[in-house]
Amino acid sequence: MDTTLLGALEAGGTKMVCATGYGDGTVVEQISLPTTTPEETMTEVAAWFADKGVAAIGIGAFGPTAVNPASPRYGQILETPKTAWRYFDMLGSVISRLDVPCGYDTDVNVACLGEVTFGCAKGLTDVVYLTIGTGIGAGVLSGGKLMHGMMHPEAGHIRVLPDPRDPIAHNSACPYHTNCFEGLVAGPAIAKRWDGKSGGEMAEDAEAMDLLAGYLGQALATYILCYSPQKIIIGGGVADHTPIVELSRAKTAEWLNNYIATPEMHDLDNYIVNNSLEGKQGIMGCLELARQALEG
Ligand code: ZN
Repeated sequence: MDTTLLGALEAGGTKMVCATGYGDGTVVEQISLPTTTPEETMTEVAAWFADKGVAAIGIGAFGPTAVNPASPRYGQILETPKTAWRYFDMLGSVISRLDVPCGYDTDVNVACLGEVTFGCAKGLTDVVYLTIGTGIGAGVLSGGKLMHGMMHPEAGHIRVLPDPRDPIAHNSACPYHTNCFEGLVAGPAIAKRWDGKSGGEMAEDAEAMDLLAGYLGQALATYILCYSPQKIIIGGGVADHTPIVELSRAKTAEWLNNYIATPEMHDLDNYIVNNSLEGKQGIMGCLELARQALEG
């Protein structure tokens, strides 16, 4: 086994998960630090890594962020509502403090990479990884490569048709869009619609779950039509603590109405799935990103 110690940084809007581990996905040590101001947070992150001796670090950052190395803003956080972090040079701050090769991508792209390298999507070339938590983001592997493009996909903000039963259908929790998928399904939407409750607290409410699964099914049908994934993997707190992934399968099929007839579409239990790495898909993906950065 390759014993080169690698670093992983899952840089989230509420917490920074730092870890060390190996190229086979083994995590050696891990801590979680609160995300406060950029200066304070990155000083703490660097202090944790300082004496670990990692050869490279893979960073999965919250978005939107510039992931294309050709972009003049490469490695920066972009138009985030967390204004202290807007245009903060995340990648540069790690390199300047720790001076090791770094790989950089979105948090959802690295989670996708984790599932493709170590998890249930091993060997596949076209995969959508969706996280449904305080926000919704999608990491996309297309033709064996993590999709970047102009910026990176922001598939959490696609428009969905309002459900007539939904009291916030035209007044979503997204500050940008009246009825986008994130604004109707992520944690803040659940809290807004149901007295401040979380997804987990609503999990037993069949009508609530039907509503959320309906929106999820619409979104998945769109991803299937646009990205043609071989598998769709869903993580994040709302997905992990409710039955919406399971319920969304029939909704997705209903929306597509037999238009896509592939073996995968006839085996939805194995096509639309919960994450397979017990929440470690992001950190494990960061380790793989670090390994790739080291190889250059
Ligand atoms: Zn939105």
